[in-house]
Amino acid sequence: MNICISIFLFLMGMVMGSFYMVVALRLPQEESLIYPGSHCEYCNHPLSWFELIPVFSYLLQKGKCRKCGHKLSMGYPITELATGILFTFSYLQFGLSYHFFLSIILSSLLIIIFVSDMRYMIILDSPLILTVILSMILRIIYFDLKTALLAFIPAIITFVIFFIIGKIGDKMFQRESLGGGDIKLSFVMGYILGLPMAIVAFILATFLALPYAVGYLFLKEGHEVPFGPFLISALWIVFVFYDKFNLLINWLFLVG
Ligand SMILES: [Zn+2]
Repeated sequence: MNICISIFLFLMGMVMGSFYMVVALRLPQEESLIYPGSHCEYCNHPLSWFELIPVFSYLLQKGKCRKCGHKLSMGYPITELATGILFTFSYLQFGLSYHFFLSIILSSLLIIIFVSDMRYMIILDSPLILTVILSMILRIIYFDLKTALLAFIPAIITFVIFFIIGKIGDKMFQRESLGGGDIKLSFVMGYILGLPMAIVAFILATFLALPYAVGYLFLKEGHEVPFGPFLISALWIVFVFYDKFNLLINWLFLVG
């Protein structure tokens, strides 16, 4: 039974990943999600159903458009595969529980932010809002309305802290340090993780971003580094390994 559910979630994850890719690439450009249907970016050749099967179509077509032969982006199969893996991992880690559903929501947000922020330096509002609404509904179902509403307090505090850090950063570096999207994402971090874990996730994100930022500074001078993918990765990591981080914090405070 476990294997059946795992395979189902892997396939569903790949289909959803394909959809998230469309969301992350089209919404920042203010394009419709439905029209026009999926087509080759280079020759506009409309894709039929057998060219739309996640990962498999890419492999069958050897990574090329069937019509014009142009090389297709590796981003598609990688995103689809990553979503499938994250969905299956969520199940293997948590079973069919509250944390599983929350993990599915966070994995979806992770994929969308990764693609849109890397490509356009944009974090979309709608997936952030949807994440808060869905996790609020989950809290009401698994706990109660009060628990769902109380989680807004750390969310607001985290948002204010990020806003202040952003303002200080802008003054220090004389340019935008935390983007508006990053600050909005911090609200989600506060809602999901509470305090102080949202701050722990912020610290983890800066550590994750550091080698990337240093590398970029040497390669392309003055190029902006999107922070969103690191923030959402840190949120996901702290969420999944919450107990381990909790132990670490307790240990640090006891020692200190
Ligand atoms: Zn083509």
